[in-house]
Amino acid sequence: MPALLPEELVKWQFVESKVKRVLQAYAFQEIRTPIVERTELFQRTIGQDTDVVAKEMYSFNDRKNQSLSLRPEATAGVIRAGIEHGLFYNQTQKLWSMGPMYRYERPQKGRYRQFHQINMEAFGYQGPQIDLEMILMTSRIWKALKVNAIELEINSLGTSTSRQAYRKVLVEYFSDHKSDLDEDSTKRLVSNPMRILDSKNPEMGNLISNAPNITDYLDTESEDHFATLTNSLEQHNISFQLNPRLVRGLDYYTKTVFEWTTDQLGSQATVCGGGRYDDLVKQLGGQDVCGVGCAIGFERLTELVEVLSKKEQNMQPKIYIVAVGDDTELHASLLAEKIRDTNEEYAVEINMDGGSFKQQFRKADKSGSELAIVIGEEEIQQGNLGFKPLMIDQEQTTIKEENLMQEINRFFTE
Ligand code: ATP
Ligand code: MG
Repeated sequence: MPALLPEELVKWQFVESKVKRVLQAYAFQEIRTPIVERTELFQRTIGQDTDVVAKEMYSFNDRKNQSLSLRPEATAGVIRAGIEHGLFYNQTQKLWSMGPMYRYERPQKGRYRQFHQINMEAFGYQGPQIDLEMILMTSRIWKALKVNAIELEINSLGTSTSRQAYRKVLVEYFSDHKSDLDEDSTKRLVSNPMRILDSKNPEMGNLISNAPNITDYLDTESEDHFATLTNSLEQHNISFQLNPRLVRGLDYYTKTVFEWTTDQLGSQATVCGGGRYDDLVKQLGGQDVCGVGCAIGFERLTELVEVLSKKEQNMQPKIYIVAVGDDTELHASLLAEKIRDTNEEYAVEINMDGGSFKQQFRKADKSGSELAIVIGEEEIQQGNLGFKPLMIDQEQTTIKEENLMQEINRFFTE
């Protein structure tokens, strides 16, 4: 991943703060989990035959020959932490986290080896209402960021029982077309046939699109769950596309799965993906508690967000202190501290290492400050300060030092 430079981070912080606001509006709480976990944790959750575990993990042995991995996704770590701290015992949880993930992939635009995700997970909610809430919440995030070119695809993978039934049919189908399978899919036919549907190989496209549909093999429970969800989405005016081929790249999903995709980012089209994982907590040794979660790719989302005006970005007002003459440097730092003491909202930069008025004003302009406060020997003697707006055409005026905060506040609120 390329380093994130200050200019870009302004946009990142804007996106982050908008997203956090929405998450809070749905009463989700933040959790932070380790970046490094035992490799086994990811093998057991994501699945041995998934691309993520088989090809994309950064794994290494520590000094005691324990295999550890950089996390490729967040859910496994959240569940491990939840089990360890008793978060699933007789209670529900709505959690979010944000941070870097690592996958050994071919780097390109929208696909990096270190990338960032915003993750939402909810535990202990049986019904489809929480699936709906996840989708409404993500939809609200797109709206808050004025991202319009984004579409929802959903599918149901059923309970583990109905998946077994589908798996059987699928194996029969692909076995009948064995000679058309690529190497990966031939392997998966034995180990994990549903993974074949997730193949990115275009030569497999035809075969995959003619495969039996999972939605024809759902049990009543899964069918009802899915019908309630799709009906509720309609009531909320959220449009969606049913996609029976949507299986997602990780093994742990049950019932609802969904993806938000865009046509604005070339082939890196998926901005957010998620679904239910009703068996996962138990499978990892925890309570029998259901879960649902999704992850937004932060780089892809941010790429979709238009550059915003300073005001929309909620950037701090910036003040530059110009100080020319003997003993003005100390006065400048005293003044800067006074401003920071009074109001932490202002970003204050003082001129360091001297220079003429002209040189200092050039630096002030370059700093992106809206206002310069000017200190000279004469001003100090008379208890005055120079006050010069930088981004508008306005002459420098002289103000009394004791009125400084008043003048600053007035300038920035006008
Ligand atoms: P893709 O099909 O694009 O590889 P995925 O199914 O592997 O995505 P998930 O595991 O569902 O991705 O992760 C959720 C989101 O994280 C994705 O929708 C995407 O926005 C983002 N993401 C995944 N891998 C990367 C990556 N290597 N670089 C940047 N973003 C990524
Ligand atoms: Mg992937």
